[in-house]
Amino acid sequence: MKKVRTRFAPSPTGFMHLGGLRTALYAYLYAKHNGGDFILRIEDTDQQRYVEGAVELIYSSLKESGLYYDEGPDVGGDCGPYVQSQRKEIYAKYAKKLIELGGAYYCFCSKERLESLTDENGNRKYDKHCLSLPKEEVERRLAAGEPYVIRQNIPTEGTSTYEDMIYGTITVDNSELEDNILIKSDGMPTYNFANVIDDHLMGITHVIRGTEYLSSTPKYNLMYDAFGWERPVYIHLPTIMKDATRKLSKRYGDANFDDFVKKGYLKEAIINYVALLGWAPKNNVEKMTVPEMVELFSLDGISKSPSIFDEVKLRWLNGEYIRELSDGEFYALAKPYLESSDINGLFDLEKAAKLLHGRTEVLGEIPEKINWLAKLTAYDPALFFNKKNKTDENFAREILPKIKKYIEEVPAFDNDTLYQYIGGKCAEEGIKAGAAFWIMRIAITGQAVTPGGATEMASLLGREETLKRLDFSIRMLG
Ligand code: GLU
Repeated sequence: MKKVRTRFAPSPTGFMHLGGLRTALYAYLYAKHNGGDFILRIEDTDQQRYVEGAVELIYSSLKESGLYYDEGPDVGGDCGPYVQSQRKEIYAKYAKKLIELGGAYYCFCSKERLESLTDENGNRKYDKHCLSLPKEEVERRLAAGEPYVIRQNIPTEGTSTYEDMIYGTITVDNSELEDNILIKSDGMPTYNFANVIDDHLMGITHVIRGTEYLSSTPKYNLMYDAFGWERPVYIHLPTIMKDATRKLSKRYGDANFDDFVKKGYLKEAIINYVALLGWAPKNNVEKMTVPEMVELFSLDGISKSPSIFDEVKLRWLNGEYIRELSDGEFYALAKPYLESSDINGLFDLEKAAKLLHGRTEVLGEIPEKINWLAKLTAYDPALFFNKKNKTDENFAREILPKIKKYIEEVPAFDNDTLYQYIGGKCAEEGIKAGAAFWIMRIAITGQAVTPGGATEMASLLGREETLKRLDFSIRMLG
């Protein structure tokens, strides 16, 4: 059996769209599951759309997602160059060959003539005018340096058929296809031509890409046939929708890998979520690493119907990944977000990270989860009311001076010491510790819900700040 070779062939647009990342992932998974090679090819024939740094972004996004390619522009390989703009001569050679084989022809038609072919509905189809030019005329005009394009010569009759691994038999009437341009007047190939030449020369056995290419693939097959080349296997992937009516689109800037990373999603969670956009493994597991996906990947788990991008699910998955981190790992990731929060410079960020660890789904939300802690401002004393602990404002007024005293006396200010010391004092004085902690926590934070208990919050604030806040609350209650 021939070694499986798949490729990811992005155009350098300046961002890694999650739809593109999914194509890359499935191509990678298919290759690796079958012991094959995964190749990166940069499709940059549209030079007007050149974006500075776009290619580097493709390299880094793939590597950060764990999709290491065996061949590509920056890693080399036997089938290079892997950048289409560096393959101009190759395309020219094969275009000439295709002309000799009758699969293509030179076209000298002017813009005006092409425009005159537009019908009343605004549709235009090339009429094969230049196909019938005598050979001598073509040669004379080429020698005279007249501008030209090269067009595919598509049969006007019959049908073209192929089997897609996901969508089954695809048949089109050749009369519906157009003699598209293969080589533009600047000598650059179009996608229509370059994808065929490159996939063949790079030994691609399985072409994996979005469904938007499902209906143009018969045109490509006509070229494979004209050259006498073996067609690749086609695996077209279902669309990803933003909602029930709109496609997730790179044009609208929806769902870029980098944006999600910046928001505080972990790369592992993003690539895991992307895997689920159109594929479900047989065991229906949802949380998977890339190596686990390689193991489980199979085409029969790919759905035909569009999948909807669901950020709520991505959040959930991200939270799962975050919870699995050690406190140290979480702190390393959370640090920049804590540093941009209002508590930076006030409290110990590592302690704050520990409190937030189990309560964070997206790292970018850390500042808003903790900013309130920077300063205690007037709050509603009704917060002290708690039915279970039998506490209220009056009880707070009574007990807060005592708590203040314990805080002054406690020998160390870590959570355990605080907890044991205050708990012990309460027992001595016949006060329910739960009630005391409830009052203390509200008095030093002004919040009914906090990421940690009273002593955890106090140890984060430190003795001085805790005492200041107790004074504030004592004064407030009067
Ligand atoms: N450059 C094409 C794109 O970005 C690649 C399509 C393909 O994989 O053949 O859509």
